[in-house]
Amino acid sequence: MYDVIIIGAGPAGCRTAELLAKSKKKVLVIEEHTKIGEPVQCTGLISGKLLEIHPDLPKNIILNKIKTARFFAPSGTNFSLSVKKPALVVDRAKLDKWIYSKAKQAGAEFKLGMQFKGFQKKSNNLIIKTNNGNFETHILIGADGPLSRVRKLAKIKADYTQQIFSQKTIVFGGAKRGRLLQGHRPGEGKFGDSADLCFGGEYFNWFVPISKTKARFGGPSKEMKFKGESGGVCRYGLLKTAQKGNIYLVGDAALQVKPFSCGGVVYGQIAARCLAKAIIEDRDYDELWKAKLAWPIRKGLLLCQFYTFPNWLKSLLFEIIVRTCSEKLLENLDMDFY
Ligand SMILES: Cc1cc2nc3c(=O)[nH]c(=O)nc-3n(C[C@H](O)[C@H](O)[C@H](O)COP(=O)(O)OP(=O)(O)OC[C@H]3O[C@@H](n4cnc5c(N)ncnc54)[C@H](O)[C@@H]3O)c2cc1C
Repeated sequence: MYDVIIIGAGPAGCRTAELLAKSKKKVLVIEEHTKIGEPVQCTGLISGKLLEIHPDLPKNIILNKIKTARFFAPSGTNFSLSVKKPALVVDRAKLDKWIYSKAKQAGAEFKLGMQFKGFQKKSNNLIIKTNNGNFETHILIGADGPLSRVRKLAKIKADYTQQIFSQKTIVFGGAKRGRLLQGHRPGEGKFGDSADLCFGGEYFNWFVPISKTKARFGGPSKEMKFKGESGGVCRYGLLKTAQKGNIYLVGDAALQVKPFSCGGVVYGQIAARCLAKAIIEDRDYDELWKAKLAWPIRKGLLLCQFYTFPNWLKSLLFEIIVRTCSEKLLENLDMDFY
């Protein structure tokens, strides 16, 4: 019998497992893949807040630090945003493995290569069914990503918008200079010094340098398809509730993702702490995570209206920003909580 069973050994599931195991809960994490962190479905661009959450983050997980992002309108009009705290480009597989190792050290048990199939109520507990046996628990946590089976089977209602992305790693030298993306003008300024985000399509396309010669390059799969390369699904929205009785959701499973960029690593780490606190101190989880994330998600959803504008209007808004916003104002923007 377990206190908590977590489905999914991604960063949100493993962080929740670590915090619960540290407070002496008997925790089991079930992960369908046999290797933690793989396949990688992430660009790895994460705000410096990750270092506040994990001050002990090993240096070898950080591939690059980026102080400047350049935003390109469909017309090519662009502005740079230099932030005081650099954003990190991380090796996602290594990051996931490190968070996993911390959970293991704290005493969480893992079953890799095991798939969650469903659950059944047994008085106040739950029987968790997998492809390799059943397990009993007081609490079930769905940290099983955007397509969460736990969310579906628990019938937790989720209104979301979905993006499907395609991404590949390119060597700058091998890539044609000129327009990689609609409106992209990498020739202006040094190619590779900044993360370049281009807004000519239905969402945005990105060019994120992971070193002096390599970059991750991607966008919605409708606009770019790279055979055999990484990509994946993102879903965003604001859940009314991420809990139902003794079943909870965290991370992408709970749509705890920045709507404007689909970045979910930091929000998942923040929510994991809220969930662990709620379970350990018998507090209301929704109250805790919403106090931290509901407003930023709402703001992000509002900002997403931008994506529905025609290209001429997007370009006009860029012109207005370029003409009216001072660099000082822009540099104070927070990548996670704009
Ligand atoms: C192309 C792309 C680029 C991205 N770039 C960024 C970025 O630059 N920065 C950023 O912050 N975020 C980015 N994201 C989002 C980020 O990857 C997610 O927000 C993050 O991985 C969510 O973590 P999680 O732990 O909630 O879920 P996940 O990392 O999705 O982990 C869920 C785990 O559950 C397991 N699982 C699922 N179903 C089952 C089951 N039935 N049984 C057992 N195990 C199961 C999965 O195998 C997986 O390991 C990107 C996403 C995509 C698709």
